[in-house]
Amino acid sequence: MKTLLFFISAVALSGAAAAETPQPKLIVAISVDQFSADLFNEYRARFTGGLKTLQQGAVFANGFQSHAATETCPGHATILTGVHPTRSGIIANYWVDYNAPRPEKQVYCAEDETAKGSLPDKPVVSTVHLKAKTLGERMKRFNPASRVIAVAGKDRAAVMMGGELTDEMWWWDNGKFSTLTDRKTPASVQKINDELAETVASGLPAPPLPNLCRPFVAPVSVTAKKSVGTPLGPLPPKTPKGMRVRPELDQATLAIATRLTDDYQLGHRSTPDLLAVSLSATDYVGHNFGTAGPEMCAQMMALDQALDAFLKHLDASGVSYVVMLTADHGGHDVAERNRARAIPDDLRVTAAVGLKALNEAMDYGKNPVFRVDDPKSDTIAGDLYLNPSIKGKKRRKLIADARRWLTGKNDMIAAVFTRDQLLAMRAPTLPPEAWSLAERAAASVHAARSGDLIVLLKPRMSPIGAPGEGYVATHGSPWDYDRRVPILFWRPGMIGFEQPNSIETVDIMPTLAALIGLPVPTVEIDGKCRDLDAGPGSTCP
Ligand code: ZN
Repeated sequence: MKTLLFFISAVALSGAAAAETPQPKLIVAISVDQFSADLFNEYRARFTGGLKTLQQGAVFANGFQSHAATETCPGHATILTGVHPTRSGIIANYWVDYNAPRPEKQVYCAEDETAKGSLPDKPVVSTVHLKAKTLGERMKRFNPASRVIAVAGKDRAAVMMGGELTDEMWWWDNGKFSTLTDRKTPASVQKINDELAETVASGLPAPPLPNLCRPFVAPVSVTAKKSVGTPLGPLPPKTPKGMRVRPELDQATLAIATRLTDDYQLGHRSTPDLLAVSLSATDYVGHNFGTAGPEMCAQMMALDQALDAFLKHLDASGVSYVVMLTADHGGHDVAERNRARAIPDDLRVTAAVGLKALNEAMDYGKNPVFRVDDPKSDTIAGDLYLNPSIKGKKRRKLIADARRWLTGKNDMIAAVFTRDQLLAMRAPTLPPEAWSLAERAAASVHAARSGDLIVLLKPRMSPIGAPGEGYVATHGSPWDYDRRVPILFWRPGMIGFEQPNSIETVDIMPTLAALIGLPVPTVEIDGKCRDLDAGPGSTCP
């Protein structure tokens, strides 16, 4: 059997030659939703738990979700497939399919819209849209004895990290953890769900605010009714939606992952196993309160402690494991706090570049012909679709006119590309930070799923034009605050190093595959294996 050169720190410290360590028997792939490289850098010196431990390994502080559509579904799909969204087909969280067999033409990335009763906001969860093989699928096709488990705070994260052959797939579903329609509930999951039902019924006290987060307390008004910048209050009884911003969500996700790891005895047999975990609370905190307040600070500290308990459990199990941690995309703080803090050009889009204004300008105000993926949204950011009933010369003229109109709104819009223009582009040759806007957009374009036009807002331009009670900040832009994510690899005993040069999240899959000797044809992927050996050896083939 092939062994890998991993340098054991104890041996190195004693001055002896490097020792060979056997292949890990368990790969743990963790995504922290919206954990930007900016958040990692801000908090990395303050972590004392799991996120301190992981920094003892290979630290790539400049990881890139290289594509323009920096959303949860495309981002999660890059991590364990090794391909960009243009190849995975997961170009956004939602897209428009005029051929969908139902009146609603908006399609959710992790649904099967042909399944009875499936709707974008109430999906029959499925892996059918994912057009690339995940690491778990490759492992199981190579050796069917490998076990693959995916647990997440969101269905789309579990689907895109696990893929088609996942043995157990679980996600938070507004009060409990759910799975695919044809699956049974193990007793261990049922027990956690019963406990969660009690928690939701009774509510929770306000989470503690760590001392180091106290200086961040400074209320900022976002709307007349909503301000951010204050510690979280108690969770009222029977408000499962409120759990999403609570540290208990990540704790419960990790509890399910831990129980299933034990149930399936992951890592205890001769074939390697995979545990994929996505932790969603960071994303919900970012959307609801922004990234720079005491809410996010408390979330970072809680995440660090939850991961610490999780890693300690893995250590106690005696399994030989490797952990990879990254994020599906980055994030950006609320415009109002940024404006109050030396970033006066941090703005929100206005209706002047909205869908209604565009359709009116094209003389289709009463019977709008352009739409975005969300039928309730007026914001044009990302894919813009022209109704397919308009054909031929008229279609070409409308697309050209709309493009000209949007390009003219250059106080808010940075670039407008046609889908066909992006599909014709070649793969970039420079590292991801040097990609042009067109190259970023081309990495998340798809012939059958993308809009006729792809619209990119200017940097620091929030697509949430008029925030309500809910989301006040978001991601999804082609700018580096949304593209840059940490990528950490750690194995107990490994000699750590930091690599400041950029790598991509599509590099993660081939890097992990190499650790377990799993062959991956390079033509099938966009990423490259990255060497995790600090010394003269290499963990890549
Ligand atoms: Zn996300």
